[in-house]
Amino acid sequence: MPNDHAPLSDSSLNGAEAKRLKVILSQPRGFCAGVVRAIEIVERALRKYGPPVYVRHEIVHNRHVVERLKAKGAHFVENLDDIPEGAVTIFSAHGVPRAVVDEAVARDLPVLDATCPLVTKVHNEARRYVARGRTLILIGHAGHPEVEGTMGQVTDPVHLVQTETDVELLDLPSDAPVAYVTQTTLSIDDTRGIIAALQRRFSDIVGPDTRDICYATQNRQTAVRELSTLVDVILVVGAKNSSNSNRLREIGEEAGIPAYLIADGSELDARWLSGAATVGITAGASAPEVLVEDVIAALRRIGSVEVSTLPGREENLEFRLPTALADVG
Ligand code: SF4
Repeated sequence: MPNDHAPLSDSSLNGAEAKRLKVILSQPRGFCAGVVRAIEIVERALRKYGPPVYVRHEIVHNRHVVERLKAKGAHFVENLDDIPEGAVTIFSAHGVPRAVVDEAVARDLPVLDATCPLVTKVHNEARRYVARGRTLILIGHAGHPEVEGTMGQVTDPVHLVQTETDVELLDLPSDAPVAYVTQTTLSIDDTRGIIAALQRRFSDIVGPDTRDICYATQNRQTAVRELSTLVDVILVVGAKNSSNSNRLREIGEEAGIPAYLIADGSELDARWLSGAATVGITAGASAPEVLVEDVIAALRRIGSVEVSTLPGREENLEFRLPTALADVG
């Protein structure tokens, strides 16, 4: 697992008194329905077709998940060129550009699409807006695979904006017919500001409001905002390349609470807890609960820990699996 910090050791705790820590778990946290479905697709594909199966990009942005699937026989590649003829091919939860779908069809690769249905919904919106003659503006983070997938849904140029300043710099006339869509895992507040800037800048603009931000992102952000009123420090369990995990950390910081994104307990730094009595923990949508437990175990090596969980919102959403895998137990 990636580890930017020295692991906790006796020496790292020298001088620290035995602590009593209250730990409050955010709710909901961790896996969302899209991540559960994507992992299930790889596991069922391995059971049905046998290893190896090939996954384009990390199935979800979590090293622990990827390593576990690797051990079962999944191969992770960035390009379809790295997939042998006829091999079972899985697209990750983040979605892919049309060119990748076309390439897979041209090569006759048997594809299972683990793109989250909420990302597919954004793809469909993007295509619909462009088909109606609108110039597409995507609110999202450059380089993220979901953004590349959404930009690659249409052949017309797509304008990517990440900030309100980017909106001012757009090289488009103010009366151009435009439409916007957003990445699913953005900050609700930032996105609201960018949409307001777009609406000020363009007279003929349509878009889905903030509804492209998925339910899981919204629920985890709302919960971490509540958590930040109760704790001295926030630990976000998630990968450095996980967009929704980064947003959770930012929300903690915006609330004035020191917040750290860590992959697991080995990245916990005891110095972050100096002077802290209450620690909040949340987890990004691609982080399994076992990693939250690993962080709690690391806290227990620092002192006594009493764990409670915020009531939070219950999530019951489940996405249907591809038909080809429905019969696999
Ligand atoms: S975070 Fe949202 S969009 Fe991404 S996989 Fe989960 S449910 Fe789907």
